Amino acid sequence: MTMAPQTAPGEVIVIGAGVGGLSAAAFLARAGVPVQVLEAHVYPGGCAGTFFHQGYRFDAGATLVGGFGPGAPLDRVGQALGIRWPVHLDPVAMQVHLPQGLRVTRWADGPKWLAEVAAHFGPSALSFWQWQMETADALWALMSSMPPWPPDSPAHLVRLARQGMAWLGRLSPARWPGLLRDALGKAGSRLPHHPAHRLLVDAQLLISAQTTADHANALFAAAALDLARLGVGHLPGGVGRVARELAASVVRHGGQVHLRQEVTRVARQGSGWRITTRRGLSLEASHVIFNLPPWNAARLLGDDAPPRLRRLPPRPQDGWGAFTLYLGVDEGVVPADLPLHHQVVQGEPLGEGRSLFLSISPAWDQDRAPAGKRAITLSTHTALAPWWALFHQDREAYEARKQAYTRDLLAQAERVLPGLAEAAHLVLPGTPITFQRFTRRAWGWVGGWPQTHLLRGWSPTLGRGRWLVWDTIFPGQSLPAVALGGLGVASRLLAAPRGAALPAPRLPVEPG
Ligand SMILES: Cc1cc2nc3c(=O)[nH]c(=O)nc-3n(C[C@H](O)[C@H](O)[C@H](O)COP(=O)(O)OP(=O)(O)OC[C@H]3O[C@@H](n4cnc5c(N)ncnc54)[C@H](O)[C@@H]3O)c2cc1C
Repeated sequence: MTMAPQTAPGEVIVIGAGVGGLSAAAFLARAGVPVQVLEAHVYPGGCAGTFFHQGYRFDAGATLVGGFGPGAPLDRVGQALGIRWPVHLDPVAMQVHLPQGLRVTRWADGPKWLAEVAAHFGPSALSFWQWQMETADALWALMSSMPPWPPDSPAHLVRLARQGMAWLGRLSPARWPGLLRDALGKAGSRLPHHPAHRLLVDAQLLISAQTTADHANALFAAAALDLARLGVGHLPGGVGRVARELAASVVRHGGQVHLRQEVTRVARQGSGWRITTRRGLSLEASHVIFNLPPWNAARLLGDDAPPRLRRLPPRPQDGWGAFTLYLGVDEGVVPADLPLHHQVVQGEPLGEGRSLFLSISPAWDQDRAPAGKRAITLSTHTALAPWWALFHQDREAYEARKQAYTRDLLAQAERVLPGLAEAAHLVLPGTPITFQRFTRRAWGWVGGWPQTHLLRGWSPTLGRGRWLVWDTIFPGQSLPAVALGGLGVASRLLAAPRGAALPAPRLPVEPG
């Protein structure tokens, strides 16, 4: 993976070995395009990486991977690239812990989940989830033809119209008005009045759509809430295995992945681009794919940034950072039959420790922790500004806030694992500052845009020879989503006018 990079004009360079960048690179390599990936860090995966510390392998950000079920996004990506994911599918996606001791199990199986909903919240809540599943099924059928959304050329509009009409033609006309209403409306309009059920839906949407029911677009929400049903699985060695498999696929198909190569500048050169790294590498390429937040891409491009990047506000106007805790714990604190993922919800407003996600390494995965121990990742959504203000102005207060969040999260997590604080002999906190340091995401902004309307996700096209694949582009955040985003970028790039040295693809990738 670390062979010396060589330049060959006409190549595609991907900056960043996150799941989005790697899947784009893997599809291009498989299509016969010379592609090199440059990654700043010492391991691939970015927000979906797994890091080693004192005998533990901790998932750094993403912990729950959905989309391995037959025909689901990661299954499709694996099939297309010849990857057999070493996944242990789990019938329970997660447990959600609501106030007053209400514990709801999110079964992967649809009918089982509906029975769980009916038992806890009654028939009115049931109709919400029936709507969610029917809508998501319809959307997945549309997504399987990879519509070029959002469109950025007349050809895309024509293709979109064709695909959209064919899709609608397969649905009963009685459903069309409802789909139109959902395309323009919010998920909250579909929710019955039931405070505990609304809290459950809000909490689930916060982790999947980065916003709550009153703000989330109804179509996006239906798809985002479907993650549990798409096949949630655990991978040996942690979530980082997804990126490692994708990186191996890039190499298998003739591409290269170079770690410890932070790109510091991308400048126009002739009809292509010159890419420079901190360690002094200088490469030429016809196309550059930025697997980075738009702000990072804008900095690298400087004067060559396209208008869309130059028009960005100085900082993200909405969205989130994450506060994380990585715990090494005595195994005795984890009951044998406990599900591995938990969402703990105290109440609205969510985030800032009032809602948190907790994931435990599987007992069977000896690689994740020393004998008799388990690795746990805890995370909560947090606003970025207060962390940065304290970090720059009052380092003591910053450290105190870190400790307060650590105490809060541990106390909340005791609802799942009584005795956790005492059983934890390794406690590593991470703030947005930590996230910026390790993933280089500007300000530690994670999760991309809150999915408030259908045009929130960007198209990947940044202008001639420049592409974006990251959780700001459609279809948004999560491993299956950014992997699909990678496929979308690859297919658009293959359909674009190419530099002289870029060969015609050998394998079919549906053109964008
Ligand atoms: C706390 C947290 C919890 C999450 N939980 C889940 C979950 O449970 N399930 C789920 O599906 N999703 C989850 N997500 C979202 C998911 O992790 C992301 O949507 C996804 O991993 C983003 O992938 P990406 O490829 O777009 O970008 P990134 O993961 O950000 O990858 C970008 C890569 O680019 C590299 N890079 C940056 N700058 C440079 C440079 N100048 N030169 C070279 N390389 C550079 C970085 O090191 C990084 O490897 C979570 C995210 C966070 C933060």
